[in-house]
Amino acid sequence: MVAMDIGERIKYLNSVGIVDDADSADTTDSAYVLYWMVNAQRCEFNHGIEYAIYMSNKLSKPLVVFFGAEVEYQYKRHRDFMFEGLRDVAEGLRNRGIRFVVSDCSGEAGVNKLSSSAVMIITDKPYIREEVAARDNILEQVSCSFVEVESNVLVPVEVVSNKEEYAASTIRRKLWSQISMGSFDFVEEEVGPNVYYHGYVMEELDLKNTLKEKEVELIGGSVEAHRKLEDFVENRLVNYALRSNPSEDWCSGLSPYLHFGQISPVEIYLRMNDVGSGGIDVSGFLEELIVRRELAFNFVYFNSNYDKFECLPNWARVSLGKHREDIREYLYSLDELESARTYDVYWNSAQRELVGSGLMHNYMRMYWGKKILEWSPSPEVAFASALYLNNKYSLDGFDPNSFAGVAWCFGKHDRPWKERSIFGMVRFMNDKGLVRKFKMGPYLEKWM
Ligand SMILES: Cc1cc2nc3c(=O)[nH]c(=O)nc-3n(C[C@H](O)[C@H](O)[C@H](O)COP(=O)(O)OP(=O)(O)OC[C@H]3O[C@@H](n4cnc5c(N)ncnc54)[C@H](O)[C@@H]3O)c2cc1C
Repeated sequence: MVAMDIGERIKYLNSVGIVDDADSADTTDSAYVLYWMVNAQRCEFNHGIEYAIYMSNKLSKPLVVFFGAEVEYQYKRHRDFMFEGLRDVAEGLRNRGIRFVVSDCSGEAGVNKLSSSAVMIITDKPYIREEVAARDNILEQVSCSFVEVESNVLVPVEVVSNKEEYAASTIRRKLWSQISMGSFDFVEEEVGPNVYYHGYVMEELDLKNTLKEKEVELIGGSVEAHRKLEDFVENRLVNYALRSNPSEDWCSGLSPYLHFGQISPVEIYLRMNDVGSGGIDVSGFLEELIVRRELAFNFVYFNSNYDKFECLPNWARVSLGKHREDIREYLYSLDELESARTYDVYWNSAQRELVGSGLMHNYMRMYWGKKILEWSPSPEVAFASALYLNNKYSLDGFDPNSFAGVAWCFGKHDRPWKERSIFGMVRFMNDKGLVRKFKMGPYLEKWM
């Protein structure tokens, strides 16, 4: 797909017309096209970058790619992972002759400063509240055209649906009908002779000096993401149906890379199509990558309370409220939870996995969230604690999936179940179920 064919992915954020040829573009020497990279932190399969190159060629103006590295809600482990990724971005852009500026300021501060020389600004579509607010603040300030390009999902959220979807069952058909109509071939733009920018832009961070004493081992970046994808295809995909077993490792491990946009879901989808045409069943994986993931994007896009208890469906809130006063056999403080000091060895192992590795096995994530609900003084406190711990320690935290995943533990995207203490009609999980289904020994050994 050439950049100009990405129609539905492009949104013009203001009514300043696009200067569409070199003659009408700003003729000052210092003017450039500005691509503000936010959550698509990669060079490959990045629709925003390809569109920016296309416009840069068309206007005969250089391109500056900017990233503001001060992200206020991130913790050190996320920042380290992100910086490893930015090094790959820097190399990828350098190889294409494109100027990349990473500065230790917020995206908003940086773009406001750089916009005075920009003929147009192109950015990724934001979802998380803080990113949306930064975009909107910039929008109020800038006088050039400001364009948003969707690179996070396979099908742009507004194309899939015009409302918040109730569950996977209601969005699945809508998504697949769009996918079957869409073409996902991706062709990189030729980088023309004028694209490189030679002037001073702003104080830049030295990416070589950004990483010291990492908290977790996992390596960030597009190179590692592609290695993981291939390793998954070769060694684990055939057993993906067995992925729920916490003692085994059949998942892709791609969520932190998807979260930082270090790999594109479109690229993964195309790779799965290749593999699928060779006879391997990829449907289970695509259900997670596309249906579950894009349901989460639909959720944060249409539900402004996505990080609050109020985001839950009415039946869940009412039912949890009815059981608010039920006696809790165990009550743990946030501090006890954070330091894995509960009576439950499975839960403690999961919390230790989260803190120690920056991730948690998918099945244990559900169990972990359900137990926080059971052991907290109220469902509201439980919701806030689960979100806090998930986003503080998980490398894929602060993602639409984080908010949807935590909310799922409290009934979101699920249906009412048989009523019981504390949980009301929200689905219940316990350790008996865990040991009945799986051999938990190896998991405990690894994380206790
Ligand atoms: C309490 C709780 C918290 C969660 N927090 C996060 C989070 O912070 N970030 C995050 O990315 N996911 C989160 N999830 C969803 C899911 O657990 C992870 O996406 C998955 O475990 C990531 O591992 P993987 O990449 O190996 O997944 P794979 O099984 O290999 O799946 C591939 C991709 O599909 C998507 N996916 C898989 N399962 C789900 C799911 N249930 N919902 C939505 N998308 C899915 C992810 O993007 C994942 O990377 C959470 C789930 C729960 C129950």
